Amino acid sequence: MKVNQFVIIGLGRFGSSLGTELMRLGNEVLGVDRDEEKVQDLSHILTHAVVADATEEEVLRSIGARNFDCGIVAIGDDVQASILATILLKDLGVKKVVAKAVSDLHGRVLERIGVDRIIYPERDMGIRVAHQLVSPNLLDYIELSQQYTIAELAVPQCLSGKSLDDVNPRGRFGCSIVAINKPKGIIIAPVAKDVLTIDDVMVVIGTNVQIEQFQDSIR
Ligand code: ATP
Ligand code: ATP
Ligand code: CA
Repeated sequence: MKVNQFVIIGLGRFGSSLGTELMRLGNEVLGVDRDEEKVQDLSHILTHAVVADATEEEVLRSIGARNFDCGIVAIGDDVQASILATILLKDLGVKKVVAKAVSDLHGRVLERIGVDRIIYPERDMGIRVAHQLVSPNLLDYIELSQQYTIAELAVPQCLSGKSLDDVNPRGRFGCSIVAINKPKGIIIAPVAKDVLTIDDVMVVIGTNVQIEQFQDSIR
């Protein structure tokens, strides 16, 4: 994968977690925070970490912010600082700017400024966890559209040892299993004779209703 260069403004819990993972994935990350302690904590993990106030244009210019592939504004609580830092990155010509929003209104302002991607970590994680709590087998999901979803479902005891033909999700509910993730490896595009074992992960594609019905049948 191509090595990308990221600048992260704000090294709170979200910014530091993001930076650490981007490093683990082999990228270069410059972290910026006005709090010296936050910068200290991450100086050994990130490519560079500097103490600076990101609402000062000169500061962003001097760290060469415009040369980065992507800038992430991970300031939340100080909405004014978030907005100022975001505008400055956009005006400096950073190709892609991503910003974290703490509220709907904050997100709407960021949208008007022309942010490429807005992230609502608390809101989105809340929604995700709610789905997982009401569906014990649901490990994760991607919404393809309003109607269609790809879901990862854990294989429960009641399906263990059964083939797809026995379980018949396509015939009974209309959803298809596109992969089965087993400890020994993943089966892509499984066929009728493939057998499920407890704790395998099924990757299921279908409408929300089809997947819900399948889940209800196996809880
Ligand atoms: P998180 O929810 O990610 O843990 P937090 O709640 O700890 O964040 P936020 O107020 O969202 O804190 O800010 C994240 C980081 O951004 C903090 O470490 C803060 O010091 C830093 N920060 C805030 N304003 C600026 C600024 N103007 N310049 C640089 N860093 C800033
Ligand atoms: P269909 O009636 O769906 O055309 P088929 O005649 O192609 O089935 P098989 O491919 O042998 O028959 O599959 C038998 C049954 O096993 C299917 O009806 C379906 O319910 C189930 N099945 C097989 N593969 C999958 C899959 N990948 N995902 C979901 N169900 C499957
Ligand atoms: Ca916070």
